[in-house]
Amino acid sequence: MTLVDPNPTPLARLLGTTIGATLAERMRGAGVDFRPKTMVRALSGEAGQVRRAHLAGGEVLETDLVIVARGATRDTGWLAAAGLAADAGGLTCDGACRAISIAGEPDPNIYAAGDVARWPNPLYNDRPMTVEHWGNAVDQARHAAANMMAAPSAQQPYRHLPAFWSRQFGLNIKLAGHTAGADALALVQGSRASHRFLAVYVRAGRSIAAVSFDEARWLPAYAEAVAAGARFPPFPDAIDQPRIERLKPGFPAARPPAHRAAPAPEASHV
Ligand SMILES: Cc1cc2nc3c(=O)[nH]c(=O)nc-3n(C[C@H](O)[C@H](O)[C@H](O)COP(=O)(O)OP(=O)(O)OC[C@H]3O[C@@H](n4cnc5c(N)ncnc54)[C@H](O)[C@@H]3O)c2cc1C
Repeated sequence: MTLVDPNPTPLARLLGTTIGATLAERMRGAGVDFRPKTMVRALSGEAGQVRRAHLAGGEVLETDLVIVARGATRDTGWLAAAGLAADAGGLTCDGACRAISIAGEPDPNIYAAGDVARWPNPLYNDRPMTVEHWGNAVDQARHAAANMMAAPSAQQPYRHLPAFWSRQFGLNIKLAGHTAGADALALVQGSRASHRFLAVYVRAGRSIAAVSFDEARWLPAYAEAVAAGARFPPFPDAIDQPRIERLKPGFPAARPPAHRAAPAPEASHV
């Protein structure tokens, strides 16, 4: 299996390259040929069967199965045309999940929830965010529905701690919180070498997220501390390190705007 990724490590944008490097190591240990900082320029084949992947650097990989994982794009053009503040980043809402009009006013008759809703999350100083996980879609829909039934003066802000879990190459990976803007990362339990650890993301001295690799036992406690806006370290006595090492999370630079890759001259597209 070959994994081609424009980022330096897997999950680099979400977890940073310091943590992502552990996953890359794990993948390679399992026999995956991980190709970082590379893009697929074109696919080609014969008779409806893919045979080759053409990489940006000119290399051609022989293949008979390709899985493309490029994420999702929000279709918000029709919302903007209806006079709402919407763009590719989502439909802007107020804290109560009411859609904001282009004039900047919350519309009392339009609420949003789930992937499309970009709302100021009080847990992160009202930082506008979208969360693309089903748990948020369910919670936010419930919250929006309650606000729909409430009087305008009784609208409640939606507070949400983003969370996801995944299982990859035998590793149980769990994240609680929002890592964006983290300026430091600290391992509080375990080690990267063992592929088993719990690490906390820090921003301006505050614990903003916690990630666990096969070490989820204490994650709920850390998630609670993150939701409460705890300073770092949230539990000074619960650290199994001789001293806390502050690392750089290593988030990659913002990607240039999406562009259409030119087809490989010799490629017949399937
Ligand atoms: C491949 C994949 C894997 C995922 N895996 C996970 C996972 O493991 N864990 C997790 O937490 N999340 C996962 N997600 C994300 C999760 O599916 C979404 O966060 C969740 O479905 C969001 O719910 P939603 O209701 O906001 O949007 P959606 O589930 O996308 O529902 C939106 C609906 O609106 C409809 N629609 C769009 N435009 C219009 C229109 N103009 N008029 C009427 N209807 C319209 C769409 O057809 C769709 O049915 C995954 C997503 C994908 C794509």
